[in-house]
Amino acid sequence: MSASLILKYAIELVAVLLLALGIKGLSKVRSARGANQLAAVAMALAVLGLLINYAGDGGIAATAWIWIIAGTLAGGILGAITAQRVPMTSMPETVALFNGCGGMSSLLVALGVALFPEAGGSDLVAVVSIVVSVFVGAITFTGSIVAMAKLQGWLSTPAWMQSRLRHAVNIALAVLSLVAAVKLIASGEGAQGLWLLVIGSGLLGIGVTLPIGGADMPVVISLLNSYSGVAAAAAGFVVGSQLLIVAGAMVGAAGLILTQVMCDGMNRSLVSVLFGGALGATSGGGGGGGEYTNITSCSAEECALTLEAAERVIIVPGYGLAVAQAQHTLREVTRVLESAGIDVAYAIHPVAGRMPGHMNVLLAEADVPYEQLKEMDQINPEFPATDVVLVLGANDVVNPQAKNDSSSPLYGMPVLDVQEARTVFVVKRGMSAGYSGIKNDLFELANTSMVFGDAKKVLGDLLTELKDLGLGKK
Ligand code: NDP
Repeated sequence: MSASLILKYAIELVAVLLLALGIKGLSKVRSARGANQLAAVAMALAVLGLLINYAGDGGIAATAWIWIIAGTLAGGILGAITAQRVPMTSMPETVALFNGCGGMSSLLVALGVALFPEAGGSDLVAVVSIVVSVFVGAITFTGSIVAMAKLQGWLSTPAWMQSRLRHAVNIALAVLSLVAAVKLIASGEGAQGLWLLVIGSGLLGIGVTLPIGGADMPVVISLLNSYSGVAAAAAGFVVGSQLLIVAGAMVGAAGLILTQVMCDGMNRSLVSVLFGGALGATSGGGGGGGEYTNITSCSAEECALTLEAAERVIIVPGYGLAVAQAQHTLREVTRVLESAGIDVAYAIHPVAGRMPGHMNVLLAEADVPYEQLKEMDQINPEFPATDVVLVLGANDVVNPQAKNDSSSPLYGMPVLDVQEARTVFVVKRGMSAGYSGIKNDLFELANTSMVFGDAKKVLGDLLTELKDLGLGKK
């Protein structure tokens, strides 16, 4: 074994350990930032190890160095600019795009080796790895791009995709991909089979993601994340990189666990999300949502008076709070309430906002004590003994239709039972629907009052009113 190969293995071992520590650290909000940096160092080490190995193993041509440096610079600069510019509320689209990039790179690596076999092996393991890498990589790429476009509101589900015809189309595409894969494995090479596989699996990625929408979108994004890991692991077999295999397998497994957690949180089975998604399909982003006939609204002043008299208040943060960037003003309001002896808790729905953990991150930014954040199962029994619930820019996660209306696209998703509290104030700008695009019966209930306005503005007014009432003076 050459010295450069031993060095490569040593570096890769350290990188794998750092990567495992990084993934473990991501499970807690406090350690997540450091853990992410640790994982980035691990990846840099992995690249270094590979370069050392290639350099010692016959050297790297000058032109290849130019490509490597140019690629690193282009990707690094693009990544840095994206990370600086992307707002928190667009994180899910960014994650979807990154998943797509992961799928695309695995696809390109496998294509490169398939078209230029001298770059890798051509035995059965290599060919099967190429097939898996191309198949999963292409599905991940096109599926993620569709998911991103749907989250941005650029794309909606075509009518025919909501009919059963989509199943026939998807089955045909799956069969096409299977035939191409068998052809490729049987003949070892064969560009025809390869391109058929790329086209079949690419279209299949579009076909399975396009009908999905509404409450099922978060599950699909974490599933695509898992796929990008599987594609990377397969690409690791293609180029003989143990690190890529381990890292890809970790991402694949972590994504799958997250997918299962999301499914449990939304009371969905993975199969029903993938094959029944069209029922809840919307382009996302709100808009219509049906007619309301019996709405009561009030001013921030009236809301403040009710809050002043309360003993227990529960805050329900949602996507609108993140859009308004009102977390810091919210924290000021809750500080004032707490200083008046009012008990305050925050109800966190697993899919509130637009990404897993969105509300936890948002509230952590504003220094909300972690102990005050309560998961849905923990807080739901507490609503009947609560005086006031303040729903801030949340909609779908407090929609009682999810429990009462079996024809609703949200039906089956567990929601926060805010209507059980004595009084509910809903802060939002108008009567637009939430992500799922449907009407919310909560808004017409007798104990609900709407406080219309941008969440930051309303919370600012509320703060002034509470201070005028003498709260927060201690
Ligand atoms: P929703 O998307 O259901 O509702 C958000 C509400 O916020 C809208 O009705 C909007 O009404 C209001 N709003 C928007 N901007 C403001 C503002 N500046 N001030 C005040 N209100 C505002 O949010 P939820 O958090 O309740 O539910 C999340 C939804 O997103 C679920 O359907 C979930 O499935 C989906 N989803 C979740 C993902 C995740 O991983 N968490 C990923 C992808 C989708 P108005 O315009 O009238 O103000």
